[in-house]
Amino acid sequence: MKKFYSIAIDGPAAAGKSSVAKILANRFNLIYIDTGAMYRAFTYAVLKNNLDPQNEEESCKLIGKVDIELLENGKVLVNNEDVTKQIRDFNVSSNVSYIASYKLIRLEMVKLQRKMAEKGNVIMDGRDIGTYVLPNANIKIYQVAELKERAKRRYIENLEKGINCTLEEVIKDLEKRDYIDSHRAFAPLKPADDAILLDTTKYNKDEVVEEISKIIKENTPLKEYEK
Ligand code: C5P
Repeated sequence: MKKFYSIAIDGPAAAGKSSVAKILANRFNLIYIDTGAMYRAFTYAVLKNNLDPQNEEESCKLIGKVDIELLENGKVLVNNEDVTKQIRDFNVSSNVSYIASYKLIRLEMVKLQRKMAEKGNVIMDGRDIGTYVLPNANIKIYQVAELKERAKRRYIENLEKGINCTLEEVIKDLEKRDYIDSHRAFAPLKPADDAILLDTTKYNKDEVVEEISKIIKENTPLKEYEK
């Protein structure tokens, strides 16, 4: 069987993981897997079915009934419905960490993530990629930035996308999610023992991309695909 390479990027909310991962995917011809979008998609389905995301038993009723697809063009489908925009709504953001704390839902998502990683060279971002989903990833990055800086970046991003919010709301949302994500019992947010810690507080996106590109080129043969 052909050996595929995998790059894991984990870290707290709004650390810039997905924007950096998308650029690197394009540069090194990798499949990009946004695992956060999957938990968001499941949360969307729970809310749409008028179930309570804070009730584990109710939420788990949807296991096996939510067909989640991440398309190459970045679109996210839930049972064939395009929910790309809706999964970024405040209502989804403020509930997704409850859903992501339920072990049975995580196992379902992880199955899908590992299956996608069998299809080629991948870059996957999330919270537990280096520790749980792909423990043998060739490169593991743990990307962090100070809370205020992350909130500022997410706030600007939201305004650009036309999502209405205040900076204070963003700070609260990130704090709450990080707390729940790092305190859950199963596959919590934490760096893998062999992860490279990258504090991006003082760096812009291009600088982070260059830093991770260097790590990829030094540690894998993926430079042969570089554009
Ligand atoms: O990456 P993003 O901020 O979109 O992720 C949304 C939420 O999904 C996180 O706050 C976390 O609760 C959950 N998540 C997770 N494990 C992952 C990816 C995301 O628990 N691998």
